[in-house]
Order: sequence, then C-alpha cells, then structure tokens
Amino acid sequence: MNMEFKRELPNARVVKEMYPVSDEAAARKKENDAEIQKVFRGESDKFVLVIGPCSADREDAVLEYIARLADLREKVQDKIVIIPRIYTNKPRTTGDGYKGMLHQPDPNANPDMLKGVIAIRKLHLRALEETGFSCADEMLYPENHPYLSDVLSYVAVGARSVENQQHRLTASGLDIPVGMKNPTGGDLSVMMNAITAAQHPHTFVYTNWEVTSRGSPLAHAILRGSTDRNGQNASNYHYEDLMKLHELYEKSGLMNPGVIIDTNHANSGKKWNEQPRIAKEILHSMRLSPDLKKLVRGLMIESYLEDGCQKPAEGVYGKSITDPCLGWDKTERLILDIAELV
Ligand code: PEP
Ligand code: MN
Repeated sequence: MNMEFKRELPNARVVKEMYPVSDEAAARKKENDAEIQKVFRGESDKFVLVIGPCSADREDAVLEYIARLADLREKVQDKIVIIPRIYTNKPRTTGDGYKGMLHQPDPNANPDMLKGVIAIRKLHLRALEETGFSCADEMLYPENHPYLSDVLSYVAVGARSVENQQHRLTASGLDIPVGMKNPTGGDLSVMMNAITAAQHPHTFVYTNWEVTSRGSPLAHAILRGSTDRNGQNASNYHYEDLMKLHELYEKSGLMNPGVIIDTNHANSGKKWNEQPRIAKEILHSMRLSPDLKKLVRGLMIESYLEDGCQKPAEGVYGKSITDPCLGWDKTERLILDIAELV
C-alpha cells in the first residue's frame, strides 16, 4: 500500500473514558434532544436554528461565540431552539486546504490526528458542560461518529457525501435528527433517496462490527442551493422550490417530512450578508402556505464573531477561515428578528 501506518489511535470508547460527560451534562443533552426531536416530529411549533461558524477553527473563539448564543437563548427560547454548529471536520472541494480541527487542531501547524481527535471531543464537551448546548457537526467520516455520539444533538450529511452508501447506512443507525443535504449539483432525488435510506433499517459493517440499524425516522432534507457545470450558483430556498420539495415528500411516503434551509453556501452564493434577507424570505413563504409552515423546521446559518472570512495565516480571532460568516452583531439582530417573525 502506498501509505504509512504511523500510529494506532485510541478508539472512541477509550477517548470517551478519558473525557467523560458528567451526569449533569448528560441530563442536559437528553433535555435538548427531547426538545429538538419534538420539532422534527411536528409536535412543537418552535423553529430550529443550526447556527455557528463554517468551521470550528479554535476552541477559545468558538466557546466565546457559543456563550453569546447561550445569553441570547434566554430571550428567544419560547420561539426558537438553537443548535450551535461546531463543525470539526471540513469537506474540501479539491481535497486540499484546511480539513478542520480533527486534522489540524492548530490550523497553522501540520496535521496531528491524535491531538485532533482529543481536541474535537474536548470542544464539544466544553460547549455542553459550560453552556448546556449539545451541538451540531457534519458527519463527514461516519466511522468517527462514535467519538462524539454522546455529545451531539444533530448531524448533517454534507453535499459531497450524501450519495455515499456508508453515510446513508450510518445515518440509519443514529438516534438524533440527521439532515441530508442536496448534492452540489442540486439533484433533489439524490437527497430524497438518502433520506429514504436513512429512515430504513440496514445490516452492514461498521467499525469492524456487523451491525443492524433500526432506521432513523427523523432523517430529513437540507436545501443548500447548487452549482451547475458552468460554475453558476442556483438557489433553492424560494417559495416554488419549497413547494416542489413539499410535493416530493407527499409522493415519497417518508416519515416526518421536514426541511432545514441553509442560508449560505450555494443559496447565498457565499454572499454571507444575504443570509438575513434569505431567512426573512423563507419566513414570509411560511406565512403564505400552511404546507410550508409545517414543512420548514428551521434554518442553517453560517455565523461567527466577525463578518466575512480570512486566510488561516491572518489569525484574526473569531473570523472564519473557511466560508464567510455573518458577524455577531448582525447575527444577534437576525435571531431576535426571527423570534419576532416566526
Ligand atoms: C458546511 O456546512 O459548511 C458545508 C460544507 O456544507 P455543504 O456540504 O452544503 O457544502
Ligand atoms: Mn460552510
């Protein structure tokens, strides 16, 4: 083989024993899960915001960001369920560049996967222990999910992974809501097939075990816009797009029809400052159609302490080193506005 097996890493059980969840924090996650799952089952009218930086590049800034969300939570919790994004592993379009905290706990140093595995668990754990938030991450590497399975309340399968069988089968074994993104090319049937696969039970190989999954009834759609073969972005958050998804769901026989709409990525063309406008358009569409009011469970928003993005070497605290984000002041305004409008 053309690779060097450098060192064996501790498995998830060992890392969980090294960095355990306290009883209090475990109880908090259970409460969060119950509240979030009610939304995805249609038993609660609250609106979900999966919100936070594109990538969790450093522990201090991410925890400061989440602490600010925790303060805001007090003001909006009658209307909104906040699930902070702590995205610790990043898909890269060409494979090159910063792959997230899992690979590079220090974005400006060489990859160190042992430090990375510990860094991502510690970050999620600290968020839960210090703010009471159990967060969202992307399930980019299904085999790594067990390192975080006791601290996450939501996972997304990304646009570049959603057609992959291992992602779909692993999703079918999760007991938290899993959002299936539309693929980068925008084909909604790929996303619907992924939801179907995730909702069904399967037998497969996982972390060296033969496993059987029970199916994940809260698997749902995430619309993130698309890019065509000429590199043109096309959004899919408008009224007509959402009605089309509603019709697809009607025909599908899937359980718990629902969608989270990503306001950045190809929906904004990464014009991060369009996110408030996009969010408000979606809330308006929901007011026009009772079907959409039921279908749309919430939004995914890319937000951080500072507006925009930078190259990793620039080192500005709280500014994204991957996709550009909405800064804190605009984020706070937006969350308060959403609480008014929803
Ligand atoms: C992300 O959420 O930052 C992301 C990479 O999303 P997508 O898979 O939609 O590109
Ligand atoms: Mn992003």
